Amino acid sequence: MSLAWGLLQYPNLKVRIYEAREKLGHDGSGVGIDRNGQEALELISPELRDYLDKAGGVPMVPSLRVTLVEAKGRGKHIADVSNSVPQRTVIRADLINQMLASLPSDVVQTGRRLSNITHLEEGQMQLSFEDGSVTAADGLVGCDGINSFVRKHIFGADVGIADAEYTPGFNTRMMIPDSEAREIFGDEYCNIRTQSGWIGPGTFCMTDFGDKGDSMQVVTCFRGEQAKDMEDTPFMWVEKDFWLERIKDHGWIGECVSKVIERQESVFAAGWRGHRPPARYCDQSSCVAGDAAWAFAPARGAGASQGIEDALMLTTVLSCVRSARDVKAAFEVYDGLRRPRRDEVADESDRALDILCGCLPGVGTDEHRLKREFADWNGFIYRYNLVDAQSRAREMMEKRVRA
Ligand SMILES: Cc1cc2nc3c(=O)[nH]c(=O)nc-3n(C[C@H](O)[C@H](O)[C@H](O)COP(=O)(O)OP(=O)(O)OC[C@H]3O[C@@H](n4cnc5c(N)ncnc54)[C@H](O)[C@@H]3O)c2cc1C
Repeated sequence: MSLAWGLLQYPNLKVRIYEAREKLGHDGSGVGIDRNGQEALELISPELRDYLDKAGGVPMVPSLRVTLVEAKGRGKHIADVSNSVPQRTVIRADLINQMLASLPSDVVQTGRRLSNITHLEEGQMQLSFEDGSVTAADGLVGCDGINSFVRKHIFGADVGIADAEYTPGFNTRMMIPDSEAREIFGDEYCNIRTQSGWIGPGTFCMTDFGDKGDSMQVVTCFRGEQAKDMEDTPFMWVEKDFWLERIKDHGWIGECVSKVIERQESVFAAGWRGHRPPARYCDQSSCVAGDAAWAFAPARGAGASQGIEDALMLTTVLSCVRSARDVKAAFEVYDGLRRPRRDEVADESDRALDILCGCLPGVGTDEHRLKREFADWNGFIYRYNLVDAQSRAREMMEKRVRA
């Protein structure tokens, strides 16, 4: 939707979102949009950035507080990760609904699951949907997530690249009202509006806030040897003991998270999955963005913001297109600029999953080594210069469009 927002500012571009689901805006879990994601929204349009606040986004100050779990006790403080622009956490559905309401009603077409792509002459393509409908397009951006159909279309022949693979580990996410959070975690904890991460032996717990602060998100994960017996099970409803067993020796935070789990009607375990790096993000007239380009571990809270950066760069290159023939060049310029950036964020996110779950070889749950890891946490993500990347994209497009 960020991309549609960007492109609709250019009257020469006609934009449609084809969404498989019948209805959008149901996902109640939270997502953190960090400084770079907020900047990318702002660069697409300040109005778009405002939706983050209108959707009840809560500034996290500090952006992240990290504590090492102690089997008995409140844990050892590892780091406060501060930021000149604090991370904002928001309930996904609220942000999506804000953006959705701002788009012309014919732009988002729900219940349209893409099922076939046929390349015609001169870059034209025909898109077919499961409901039997077809449409013509000059270019297609697959923002269709981790199980992307467009990714399979681009990499179909490259075994192992198209599909996401399981990485040993599971997470569950729960939302509770502020009143319940205060009852369980206490006022002192809840008054600090931060994303609080707890590193345990092979486990990670996290809390943060959404809904203008009226809800707390509680996440718990585990990784490594403990997960081996459940490989290849991406999602399942589980007994509460599945989680309670794994966090029972986690001191104060383990007790609090256990209370949250015990009060749930049901709990799930969602497997970690990710892609292998692709050699390109585009073919003749289609490309992939967001998780469809490369879904990686959520350990740096960077996936959604990378998708928004993609949307900014696609808006930049496509705004330079003068005719349908230029779409291929736009996707190639996008590919050349976005892949190195995403590669770095993805590699570091996969490594961060081991850090957060206390199982990175050579670091583990060692307090001093963990402190070193958090000294410049996500610094490389924030320092990336989006305005400079836009200028380079425009320069490259100017040469390609003229040539
Ligand atoms: C536990 C967890 C926590 C996370 N926390 C954070 C965080 O704090 N911060 C952050 O930045 N990122 C976070 N992420 C990552 C983030 O959620 C993703 O990177 C982001 O949601 C990807 O957005 P997307 O639009 O690319 O894909 P999606 O959100 O998956 O959207 C894809 C859409 O495409 C539709 N679709 C699929 N197939 C088709 C088809 N054939 N035709 C039409 N439509 C189709 C789907 O219905 C869906 O609506 C987290 C991820 C996880 C798993």
